[in-house]
Amino acid sequence: MVCDFIFYEYFSVSTPLKIRDIFNKWLEMKQCKKSLIVYEINKFVENHLRRSLHCTEETKIKFTILKFSTNWEKYGRKKDLFEKHCNNWLDSEIFYGDSICVEPSSSFVRGRPRVSFEEASHRTKRRRVDELVVSTSAEALKKAAEKISESSNSGTLSVEKALALYVDMDISYREYNMMRNVVNGVHKNCFPSYYSIVEAKKKLIPDGIEVSETSVHVPLQAILDKTSNSILKKLEFGAESDVILECKWGFDGSSGHSVYKQKFESQDATDEFLFVTSFVPLRIVEGKNEKIVWQNSKHSSQRLCRPLKILFAKENPRLIMEVKDNIQREIENLTTYVYNNDKKKINVQYRLKLTMIDGTVLNAIHGHKSCATCVLCGAKPTQMNT
Ligand SMILES: [Zn+2]
Repeated sequence: MVCDFIFYEYFSVSTPLKIRDIFNKWLEMKQCKKSLIVYEINKFVENHLRRSLHCTEETKIKFTILKFSTNWEKYGRKKDLFEKHCNNWLDSEIFYGDSICVEPSSSFVRGRPRVSFEEASHRTKRRRVDELVVSTSAEALKKAAEKISESSNSGTLSVEKALALYVDMDISYREYNMMRNVVNGVHKNCFPSYYSIVEAKKKLIPDGIEVSETSVHVPLQAILDKTSNSILKKLEFGAESDVILECKWGFDGSSGHSVYKQKFESQDATDEFLFVTSFVPLRIVEGKNEKIVWQNSKHSSQRLCRPLKILFAKENPRLIMEVKDNIQREIENLTTYVYNNDKKKINVQYRLKLTMIDGTVLNAIHGHKSCATCVLCGAKPTQMNT
């Protein structure tokens, strides 16, 4: 047991994960859909190990879950019978020795040839690790483990990059895993697991999103804070600075969308019309001189439009004014966001300009009934070109 402890300590793996821990988790949710069980158990194991899983480990977990359900049926769905028959198996560790690939230096040995560490049996692996721990200094082992993990990490895709690729390619869970399995077969651990990109995505979603049958509302302060956080993470700043994030915002309606037979709870709701309010971050300026520290190079790309409100509603002057007033009230109530990271403290203020609008909206805001009226002087078509 002492050796086990040292082994886990120096290879910076957390406490051993027993099959029983996974079995208990499985018992809680065995009624759920199979894909959900696999997802939750993978997440549970990743949380436990504090790292993402490799392909081989995921396969191992899948087989373990399969073994749970077959044995569960075999022992008449009785927990005590199951535990009685599978006690030894349940007490074994699921990934014992899997992440170790250090071979003890071997001199000439008589007798049976030494098999490689990967091919060795469970017991042999355990014995060789014990030998290694006894014969080598703890400091050297620690350094070796660090070096191995460094070299295996080079050439891996960061979780953020994988998430961006996943969103850009607009692919499904299945397609992502298919791509990941092929690439990881050539370059080990190149793509992170699907579960880790789902977790990364969750961190980017602002809090307090309100969703109803016909509308979505994202709090302006929350989404601006998340946006500036993501951008500032990549920038270099002094110890403390004041910056302003400049954005453009606006809204537009569209019509002629497919009408589906799915019924709404309220009678007059329809999905034929859509009214979307969004904003685009343009640049970040620093200090009193407003020095540009970040500039959006794709300021007209729809990919960078961040939604504030999505409504199933027909565009009309009353709705335009209502949405405009609501957002403007939110803009007035915006507070300074403080970005804290290591030694950096950055105060972020926001400056939003209503510029993403078309002629219809502009006329509605100015209170003109006709779209043909000039928004600057109010001239009607009959008064023009005379
Ligand atoms: Zn005019």
